[in-house]
Amino acid sequence: MYRMGKKLAELTERQLYALRKRLAAGVGDPALTLRGTLVSDMRRCSGEHCRCRRGQLHGPYTYLTTYSSGRSRMVYVPQAVVATATEHVNATQHGEALLAEISRVNLELLKRRALR
Ligand SMILES: [Zn+2]
Repeated sequence: MYRMGKKLAELTERQLYALRKRLAAGVGDPALTLRGTLVSDMRRCSGEHCRCRRGQLHGPYTYLTTYSSGRSRMVYVPQAVVATATEHVNATQHGEALLAEISRVNLELLKRRALR
């Protein structure tokens, strides 16, 4: 497996094209894109005599923190879709890391006037 951060300048054009192809093959279905970060925590409710007052907290509750136009917001993730949302978020982060790397490869090809 190719290690991120390897010096692209040391690769031949042929290797760069092969790398680009390999990276692109790892990008998942764009229809599953879900950007953001998932956080889970346990909560205390407002009930004075609730078990959470004795340390048995409620939860976990999961939230997706999303960023848009420089602002972040938290969206509650219902338990029924936490696993699916986690898969989507992980696949999206992986895919975006691959796209960033593909862009680096293309930049290297551009510098060599070999971009196609
Ligand atoms: Zn409670």
